[in-house]
Amino acid sequence: MDFRFTDDQLSIQSIARDFAQKRIVPVAAEFDARGEFPLDNIREMGQLGLMGIEVPEEYGGAGMDPVAYVLAMVEIAAADAATSTIMSVNNSLFCNGILKNGNEEQKQTYVRAIASGEAIGAYALTEPQSGSDASNMHTRAVKNENGDWVINGKKSWITSGPVAGYIVLFAVTTPGIGARGVSAFIIDTKLPGFHAGKTEPKLGIRASATCEIEFNEYVCPKANLLGEEGKGFSIAMGVLDAGRIGIASQAVGIARAAYEATLTWSRDRKAFGHPIGTFQMTQSKIADMKCKLDSALLLTLRAAWTKAQTDKNGGRFGTEASMAKLVASEAAMWITHQAVQIHGGMGYSKEMPLERYFRDAKITEIYEGTSEIQRLVIARAETGLR
Ligand SMILES: Cc1cc2nc3c(=O)[nH]c(=O)nc-3n(C[C@H](O)[C@H](O)[C@H](O)COP(=O)(O)OP(=O)(O)OC[C@H]3O[C@@H](n4cnc5c(N)ncnc54)[C@H](O)[C@@H]3O)c2cc1C
Repeated sequence: MDFRFTDDQLSIQSIARDFAQKRIVPVAAEFDARGEFPLDNIREMGQLGLMGIEVPEEYGGAGMDPVAYVLAMVEIAAADAATSTIMSVNNSLFCNGILKNGNEEQKQTYVRAIASGEAIGAYALTEPQSGSDASNMHTRAVKNENGDWVINGKKSWITSGPVAGYIVLFAVTTPGIGARGVSAFIIDTKLPGFHAGKTEPKLGIRASATCEIEFNEYVCPKANLLGEEGKGFSIAMGVLDAGRIGIASQAVGIARAAYEATLTWSRDRKAFGHPIGTFQMTQSKIADMKCKLDSALLLTLRAAWTKAQTDKNGGRFGTEASMAKLVASEAAMWITHQAVQIHGGMGYSKEMPLERYFRDAKITEIYEGTSEIQRLVIARAETGLR
């Protein structure tokens, strides 16, 4: 076992940290307050290679490995969780989905556009009646006389839905056979029949735009079927395995930011004539925060390393990804909660970023599979029972 990072991994970490500290930290609170999408920063991050970290250079990406992706995501999330949500969807859900399942033309056209920051990508699985129970979808794609697909239906909670140029969409092509009747498509949002609804007002990650999207007699060219007909659900689940490493990294980044602010505060803030960090009850919280933070980071790096092995040799990394997401998201929620407490009244104030970290942490326990669903995935893998 080797805990050292490679030069490439350290280099993308340093690029991400530099951009995060110089360009994201100064504006994060304002974009959060306004609920404004950070379009200029996203485009620049694309130019720096941060929107396609694992995308080979021939398709416009940085050509790095999953560990490099984790290191960069943590830096961006520590500055602003909302920006890291957009980064995570572009990298893990959009680019990764097409890289794994698309043909050469789809990779050249769509992966290149998103990895370079030219356009924004999205991933549309959830519907008003189906989130955890994702195969219970109603959106329907029917083949017309030309072999193209006519799509009708609604998807909800779509990250970057209001601004996306291209979307990986899942729809039913053969009704009545459940998950085996689902296919995946690449949607160009400029074509007629696509409609993005109003941006959802949210508790956290407010600068990431989320909305319902609707398809009304939308004609998707046959060339935009992603993978084979009927294989859409397994594509969706495979993509989510990779996505969960992204969300685990996001949770680690939020937790690290809250933890580092707490260390500074516990040294500087005095009560009863002493720094609050000298009180044993504060020390106990700090020790637990540090243990949970490092456990989350190590499980996330293990999941990324396992994914890197499966990228080369085949195999699975879904259980490792679920464990990382579960532990990291619950650590982020707990650590941000304690961080607000240790900051006292200032933890509750918008003058400091603690309340934002606390609001942002919650989503990591919900999207890309709730904590309950992660427990279900892990227990099924462990017991072999369904
Ligand atoms: C800000 C935000 C962004 C999102 N972005 C996207 C996106 O880009 N693309 C996309 O497709 N979706 C997206 N989603 C949707 C998200 O993935 C779902 O909200 C999530 O999977 C949960 O589904 P649900 O909201 O329908 O909750 P439900 O599935 O209705 O779950 C409600 C509760 O029941 C529990 N539950 C459900 N089933 C079980 C079970 N079998 N055992 C135990 N407990 C269970 C859940 O854990 C949860 O606590 C986003 C959601 C949010 C809030």
